[in-house]
Amino acid sequence: MNRRDFLKKALTFTGLTLMSNKAFATDSSIYSKGNVANRRNWEIYEEIRKKGISRKESYAVLVDLTKCIGCLRCEWACNEWNKNPNKPLKDFEELRDKKPSVFDKIRRPTAGSFTVVNRFYENNLPVYVKKQCMHCIDPACQAACFVDAFKKTEEGAVLYNPSLCVGCRYCMIACPFDILAYEYYDPITPQITKCTMCFDRITEGKIPACVEICSADVMKFGPRSEIIKLAYETINNNPQRYIHHVYGEHEVGGTSWLYISGASFEKLGFPKLDKNPIPKLSKDFLFTVKVLEIVAAVPLLWGVYYMISRRKKNIDERNGKE
Ligand code: SF4
Ligand code: SF4
Ligand code: SF4
Repeated sequence: MNRRDFLKKALTFTGLTLMSNKAFATDSSIYSKGNVANRRNWEIYEEIRKKGISRKESYAVLVDLTKCIGCLRCEWACNEWNKNPNKPLKDFEELRDKKPSVFDKIRRPTAGSFTVVNRFYENNLPVYVKKQCMHCIDPACQAACFVDAFKKTEEGAVLYNPSLCVGCRYCMIACPFDILAYEYYDPITPQITKCTMCFDRITEGKIPACVEICSADVMKFGPRSEIIKLAYETINNNPQRYIHHVYGEHEVGGTSWLYISGASFEKLGFPKLDKNPIPKLSKDFLFTVKVLEIVAAVPLLWGVYYMISRRKKNIDERNGKE
């Protein structure tokens, strides 16, 4: 039984049925079911490793930003595959031209949507940028997590195990791409959600759902070494169209999602990062921080208790109870 199931059962057992239903409202369309996807993918990962299956080459996705038309079909497909809250596909496609537009502000992934497409402008022309976990080769989220709730898999995907997560959110602070989302609506056991790189699909020989649905041929999926080769071939075959930079080849030690573009990546919201992985936050250090938080909380709680008791005593004294 995982932590969430245990708490749900405990709340139900203690008669707090309404509270437990709200906190774990898995059927409501407004709540993300992201951790269903994250948990399922982690279980598949464990099964594969138990069977001793090993991969020789990890996979990657190449995103060609010069081709994206901002149709948002990839957002729809991601929600659909991962059973996140969704709308009809037609509604997504119409969003681009609606006023006010979904592109009026820059969005980031949320607990209920693992990928978002944003719009930027270069020479007065729109450039659409799909954003999701970059599946770093040396992930800062994994380095920051002191309960080992993240795992860079041999297949290239970085997976997250909700059953281990204690909700400290160090991973959110550590991620250089501002990707991870948090279930802020869940008052009892809020957890992280993220893109799984469709690990469940790629281990069955399929391509990620967002890659499959894109009719503008923006994304290519394959072994990372071939994807990097393809990226340079594409740039070299059309040097007028692209800048000579494959984003993610080297940034923070490399990523499994890579981008090519006609405009500078910095203008398109990509952080400028060097080749070194984000310095590993020592787990010992993080453990110490956690212990210090608890130690610091004790006098704080005692202080609050003391002030409440003193106030009550003053009121009692004023009422002549003593
Ligand atoms: S990546 Fe493809 S599916 Fe997604 S918005 Fe761009 S064109 Fe549409
Ligand atoms: S992009 Fe962020 S969440 Fe994704 S693997 Fe890298 S550090 Fe982790
Ligand atoms: S790879 Fe899968 S989980 Fe990630 S954005 Fe695409 S569809 Fe969503």
